[in-house]
Amino acid sequence: MASKSASTSSSPALPSKFPEAEPARPSAWDSQDKPKGQPRSLSGLWPFLRPYRRHIGLALVFLLLAALATLAFPVALRGLVDQGMQSSSVNAASAGAAQHGERLMALREHFLALFAVGAALGLFSAARYYMVTWLGERVTADLRSAVYRHVLKQSPEFFESTQTGEVLSRITTDTTVVQTVVGSSFSMGLRSTVMGVGAMVMLVVTNPLVMTQVLGILILVVSPAIYFGRRVRKLSRASQDRVADTSAIAAEVLNAVPVVQSYTQEVAEAERFAQASENAFDTARKRALVRAGLVAFIISATFAALLWGLYQGTQAVMAGRISAGHLGQTIVYVILLVSSVAVLAEVYGDVLRAAGATERLMELLASRSKVQEPSEPLALPASEGGLALHLNKLSFHYPSRPQQAALQDFELQVRPGETVALVGPSGAGKSTVLQLLLRFYDPQSGLISLNGVPTQRLRLQELRAAIGLVPQDSVIFSTSAMENIRYGRPQASDAEVIAAAKAAFADEFIQRLPEGYASFLGERGVRLSGGQRQRISIARAILKNPPLLLLDEATSALDAESERMVQAALEAAMQHRSTLVIAHRLATVQRADRIVVMEHGRIVEIGTHAELSARDGLYARLAALQFAA
Ligand code: ADP
Repeated sequence: MASKSASTSSSPALPSKFPEAEPARPSAWDSQDKPKGQPRSLSGLWPFLRPYRRHIGLALVFLLLAALATLAFPVALRGLVDQGMQSSSVNAASAGAAQHGERLMALREHFLALFAVGAALGLFSAARYYMVTWLGERVTADLRSAVYRHVLKQSPEFFESTQTGEVLSRITTDTTVVQTVVGSSFSMGLRSTVMGVGAMVMLVVTNPLVMTQVLGILILVVSPAIYFGRRVRKLSRASQDRVADTSAIAAEVLNAVPVVQSYTQEVAEAERFAQASENAFDTARKRALVRAGLVAFIISATFAALLWGLYQGTQAVMAGRISAGHLGQTIVYVILLVSSVAVLAEVYGDVLRAAGATERLMELLASRSKVQEPSEPLALPASEGGLALHLNKLSFHYPSRPQQAALQDFELQVRPGETVALVGPSGAGKSTVLQLLLRFYDPQSGLISLNGVPTQRLRLQELRAAIGLVPQDSVIFSTSAMENIRYGRPQASDAEVIAAAKAAFADEFIQRLPEGYASFLGERGVRLSGGQRQRISIARAILKNPPLLLLDEATSALDAESERMVQAALEAAMQHRSTLVIAHRLATVQRADRIVVMEHGRIVEIGTHAELSARDGLYARLAALQFAA
């Protein structure tokens, strides 16, 4: 086989943007230690299989029974040929009518025995099929859920290096590959192994000398197949990666269709996808080619070895050393053995393919979020009217930008119930402050404490339960208005949801929707205006009723009426709690108890709107520009 780099030339049209083999992607889970084993990688599946040991046992029993029925078939056949058929044809002419009737009965018995074997085979095969398919589906469903659950817990750092489409592809296509193995190939392999070994044993028992030789040759022939296997596995993994690439592209573009269309990039995007697909095809084709070679090699080599054995057998019949029935039986065992080896060769390819997919899934499951739960968590002391917040000498740079500090010596205390506005030019580090508060990242130095407890000593669940976030872009889920708001506190009653909507000035427009609170808001809230989406998002935070509220004001301008409503909603949301708000509006900074002016990750000024406006500092300049209207 050609080496990977040499075979790249088979697709000259592909730009280097879509590298063929392992691409140099700095993915969070690429950096993990990779399992080195081959089909051994499948052992990662064991935790998913273990709960179903009893099912596996049952499947094995049926599998064994079906294999035994198959192996019994040639024995019954030999009986038919040697006693039933042969005796009747040789002696028919000279025998009387009574004898003829007896022989007919004997013949019928033989056929009945054959039918019994067939019926047993059908029954056991069906039972095995059901059990094994059930296992495959079950394990795949568990695996999918486990991967999804795990990915949901990852810190944002993970998503900086892993695209959502790629994760989706792992969850759908990689698990499907695993399913083929657990749900069919594996049992096919086992059945073929049992039958192959059984047939071989029977052959060795019935024709000892010849078949021992054949066995020796077989072992010599099959060993080189392992070599091909390694290449198949590598290519399988690469092939799954290329499929994931196409998913990543599709997911990104489908989320931005309006932008794509407005820049009339449909054709270019379709082309980009087609090229990624082409790349996936090409890798898959290479995999198939190597695998086809593997199959051809195993089958023809096995055939050659066995034909040689048969040749010896035929000569034995001619020399009168064995009977025709004996040879017939041998032939059926040989066919069984050859077809078993053929199936095993296929299955081996499938197993290798699944090993590649499993490796990826296991890496995904092994990725650890950098943000860790505390080993000995502390409880957050309750407090009335908001949390006391202390950001103590924070210094932080994003993992992807080790050279550039996003925050430096950031020191801020917020009293319970206080509203503090963060202002500053874009890139000053305002959003970073909110990210650290939510512990999406941990600072390299410094400490954040809530009511005196460092956030790293709180359970993530407890920390985030204490914080309400109203992001700049309101997220609307594809469900009803009621459920969208209830997301803030899933156990809230309808009345509580409506009260929150009223407080956020969202009740009125929701009531006017065609089906009121039951109205479907559409994927990503396409049926709502910007201001309405913001008010839903604020209602959600009000319903959650956290002691600390983090607001990232939307920069997009609203019309005066919407603006007034959103401001009123925000004002309601800020009551009785501590609030940190990234401010873009004059109304917000005017109402804030204190304004923190940031630049290059540092605090440059702190004061009220009046105090800061009076100075001739950064705030005065910013205010003149930003809040002019
Ligand atoms: P602001 O919210 O004030 O506009 P940010 O807190 O978003 O500023 O960003 C502060 C700095 O950190 C900027 O230089 C920005 O480019 C950088 N930054 C923000 N998010 C990331 C990230 N996920 N990875 C790397 N750098 C980031």
